[in-house]
Amino acid sequence: MDKLSWNLEDIFKNEEELEIAINNLKEIFQKVKSTKGKLAESSDQIYKCYKNLEDGLALHEKVYAYAMFKYHQNLGNQEAIKLFKRIEALTAELSKIESFVSPEVSQIPIEILEKYLKEERMKPYEKTIRDIIKEKSHILSKDVEEALASYSEVFSVSDNAFDVFTNSEFDYNDVIDENGNILKMSEALYGKYMSMKDRTLRKNAYSEICSIYKKYINTLSELYLSRVKYSCITAKLRGYKSSLDSATNKDDSNLKVYETLLNSVNKNMNLVYEHLNLKKKMLNLDEMHLYDIYYNPLQENDENIEYEEAKELVLKTLSVMGDEYVKKVSYGFEHNWVDVYEKENKMTGGYNMGVYGVHPFILLNYMNTMRDVSTIAHEFGHAMHSYYANSKQNYLNSNYTIMVAEVASTVNEILFANYLINNEKDINKKKMLINEQLDLIRSTLIVQTQFSEFEKNVHEKIENGEALNSENLSNIYQNLLEKYYGDTTVIDENSKYTWSRIPHFYRCFYVYKYATGITSAIVIANKILSGEKGYVEKYLNMLSLGGSKDSLSLLKMVDVDLEKEETYKQAFKYFEKNLKELKSLI
Ligand SMILES: [Zn+2]
Repeated sequence: MDKLSWNLEDIFKNEEELEIAINNLKEIFQKVKSTKGKLAESSDQIYKCYKNLEDGLALHEKVYAYAMFKYHQNLGNQEAIKLFKRIEALTAELSKIESFVSPEVSQIPIEILEKYLKEERMKPYEKTIRDIIKEKSHILSKDVEEALASYSEVFSVSDNAFDVFTNSEFDYNDVIDENGNILKMSEALYGKYMSMKDRTLRKNAYSEICSIYKKYINTLSELYLSRVKYSCITAKLRGYKSSLDSATNKDDSNLKVYETLLNSVNKNMNLVYEHLNLKKKMLNLDEMHLYDIYYNPLQENDENIEYEEAKELVLKTLSVMGDEYVKKVSYGFEHNWVDVYEKENKMTGGYNMGVYGVHPFILLNYMNTMRDVSTIAHEFGHAMHSYYANSKQNYLNSNYTIMVAEVASTVNEILFANYLINNEKDINKKKMLINEQLDLIRSTLIVQTQFSEFEKNVHEKIENGEALNSENLSNIYQNLLEKYYGDTTVIDENSKYTWSRIPHFYRCFYVYKYATGITSAIVIANKILSGEKGYVEKYLNMLSLGGSKDSLSLLKMVDVDLEKEETYKQAFKYFEKNLKELKSLI
């Protein structure tokens, strides 16, 4: 067995073992089902239910992972397709069986649940049950819940219509490049054109994007407003203060975090401008427009890093995490945790999935670029998070929530970038690396906060009973553009319509997590690099807690308090440090 692909025998020795597992799985879920309608009877029933559910879900993860990995290794393998489809059907069946558990537990009076939770054997399920208790006051009567559920498909129309409309029904005009060539235009091509050197092409593509969204702005505004109203009405029905209150609660976060993020970024607007002015200088422009921002004049593509070299580089950059961590990463490299190379019919992109009771599995499509090496560091951040959590927590407590999901991976990415910056002798390459860090912070912390501010504004106005139209929405966006770009950049006339391009707005209040995620990662990475005594141990301990505590407490354990401006200040300090360094090199 080579070391460069997954060995699925780590999960099941053969298909026979898989079939046995599938049968076991069905039996375990029948046991879960046997407690249906009885959970209120005694703590024995609840215990039995959760114990079986936990065993079932863990075994299901192995079965699912086995089928999915086999399929992802070769998307054209008919046998794998058949197996994966079968497992997906099984997954749907099992989730239907267990769907009674949370609603039934939430019907049990809190005093009784509290009494049960005092029992030692219930400890592993305390977090899960407490989460249900927390949610309880927002659950409506059975009839209303059923009515809402039966409308759910209708409520998602705006989201689906936006996708269909913008992806397949937009009639883009072709665009012309600096040599007079006529080029096709689409949302995907737009992204590509924006990163190209040809300024005429960038300008024309940008102008085409603005015009098409302007052309359909009334329809797009109706779609978006209906999504916002759905979210506001549901939040009100469920007794939340606002749709923002409801969304942040679901994330295991809160209103204060959201507000602190917005305030903090607003207080650092001078650094945002300083960075944009530096961009303008590097681009050598008298007047910078929004279509100039995504072109990187420092781009270089001459790297060729063999995988062996990449592994060493990743291990070196992660050495600050201590011996135990590095040894485990190195073990992962040698023991088939990673499916390395691009292959015909292999799933594209990169991801990590930690399989409980087995080990993490990382999919890469390694093609020898520095970006690919950084991806290894990133995915190993996820992998080690799942490794620590899975080895220390029971299944239900092992999964971490969305607020911490990208933290460990981004910490590794920043450690990796820092190592490269500090060790690069070639001035041009060094400039490029620092510039990349700045752009990363700009796109995740700053731009996402700008979007978050837009969402908050719109939702608040709707909740205050204001009737908004496309012009109002676009003016809100115009004001934000003026604030976030100051006088560094020319905001072209139709730029204000581009809010209607953002698909994430249909998942209300989603994007702020990109901003809090990178903020947390920057603070943690810098503390690790500062060599503060005992900090790495504290961090690894936090990772090993998985999802056994709420996310804000987990982050506080590593000195990241997302409710305090000081935290964001530290992230901006790092931004400023990079900014000064790049300035000194130009
Ligand atoms: Zn990731």
